[in-house]
Amino acid sequence: MHMSRRGFWAAVLAGIAVPGLIPAGGLAAPAGPPALTTTYQVVAATDTALTMRFTARNNSSTPIDVRSLDLPRAHQIGEILSVTHDGTPVEYRGKRAKLAAPEETAYTRIPAGGAYTVDMRLADDYDLSRAGTYLVALTSTRIRGDDGPVRLTAGRGVVRTSAGVRGSAGSPRTTVGAPTISTQRVGVAAVTLRFANCSSSEQTQLRTAISNAYTYSTRAQSWLAGHTAGGGNYLTWFGAYSSARFNRATTTFAAITSQLTSKTVDLICDAASPYMAYVYQAEHYVIYLGRGYWPAAATGWDSKAGTLIHESSHFNVNGGADDHVYGLAEGQQLARTDPNRAVDNADNIEHFAESL
Ligand SMILES: [Zn+2]
Repeated sequence: MHMSRRGFWAAVLAGIAVPGLIPAGGLAAPAGPPALTTTYQVVAATDTALTMRFTARNNSSTPIDVRSLDLPRAHQIGEILSVTHDGTPVEYRGKRAKLAAPEETAYTRIPAGGAYTVDMRLADDYDLSRAGTYLVALTSTRIRGDDGPVRLTAGRGVVRTSAGVRGSAGSPRTTVGAPTISTQRVGVAAVTLRFANCSSSEQTQLRTAISNAYTYSTRAQSWLAGHTAGGGNYLTWFGAYSSARFNRATTTFAAITSQLTSKTVDLICDAASPYMAYVYQAEHYVIYLGRGYWPAAATGWDSKAGTLIHESSHFNVNGGADDHVYGLAEGQQLARTDPNRAVDNADNIEHFAESL
């Protein structure tokens, strides 16, 4: 659609912050006045980009250390934000990243009276191409500090547009060089691997990781086939048994095994990324490896092989798992408290496979 820039500017109204509510239930925030206030403001809009400024202001008289993972970034690395269009959720289409261990638990310090501010490129991560009213808010009103949840007055952003914002999202795959293609025998079948921007040493490590990931996935399938009432490692990572959840786990590993034995898998080495790995959920069988990937062990917890299981579980064709929580302890807690999310959590799928 073509429209004049001037007409577009008139169509987008500035976001306004409105006080949010702390939801009943869930994790209780500490008593006392809210320590952080979040606000949103539209700072720039064109027909291809929408920049919204997120601010988390510290109203207290002491600095607050906030889990960096809970704060929005210029481009999101997970579903930190909830965006709705005329009341209907807008699908997140941005990056889903697995961070290296130190970064997973990193904190961002917000000084007393100060603020964390970031300009978010919203139209790249969400489809804002339709006319209407978009509401933007944190997915969870829980922001974790270094000693538990931080009490929050959660605002939300509002964008009203009569024409929509197209966004410039396109797969980063289109910017990488021509891939090196090789076919690898895995078990009794063959996976085709296409490497892009990977050194020969990285390609060697990835071939090993693909082979080990195949072992993990088939071992998970065998274990599940032999423990059809759950329990044991299933209980640890996926929680209480239900036939629907058990079938979800079974289906996930069957799909990942299929990927690793019969599909073409694109492995793109992205040295500019600090993360272990990331994918786009709808960009099937394309896995990006960041700088954080190479120090990981070949197998074991949060290994090179396990990370491939994690990333593969995100693809819609493999079940479309999300990142509800990261980490071993948090994943086990999720299995105890919310098995529906545990079976849909990429780190739990990975850790179950690594536990066998
Ligand atoms: Zn993930």
